[in-house]
Amino acid sequence: MGSESALTSQIADSLLAKEIVRYLVKQRLLGDLRVLMAVKEYFVDSGSPSDVARKYGLGRYHVRGYVQRLLGKARNNHAFVADVISSTYKHICELNPIILPIGGRYYCMLCDEWFRSKYMAFSHLENVHGDLVTELVNKIVWAGVRP
Ligand SMILES: [Zn+2]
Repeated sequence: MGSESALTSQIADSLLAKEIVRYLVKQRLLGDLRVLMAVKEYFVDSGSPSDVARKYGLGRYHVRGYVQRLLGKARNNHAFVADVISSTYKHICELNPIILPIGGRYYCMLCDEWFRSKYMAFSHLENVHGDLVTELVNKIVWAGVRP
């Protein structure tokens, strides 16, 4: 397993894989590449949560929270999460953010609106731009499929 691995069409079609990719796509659209890099390093490169947290300037319990959330979406199947991340990571990184973290707040470029917290920006993304997120998730999941 490595960055060259690809999903099988069966995995790509699974709702669990889409849930994982959806979560990561939203982090990317929010302009937070650190979360994406941190979970990739944890699941795919087997980094320890404390090393990963230190490297990306995230709280250790935050990293554990992201990891738990992804495991929860995959019924605690670590290898499944690792497979999904390694075959979609590159495509997710290539997305352009639509919300930017600026001075501790979050700005949606599509709506010209500001949000006070990441949580509010995350909700906005899901509620207002959910269709766009779904479209990107489907594109990315299938782009990771072995031809
Ligand atoms: Zn918006």
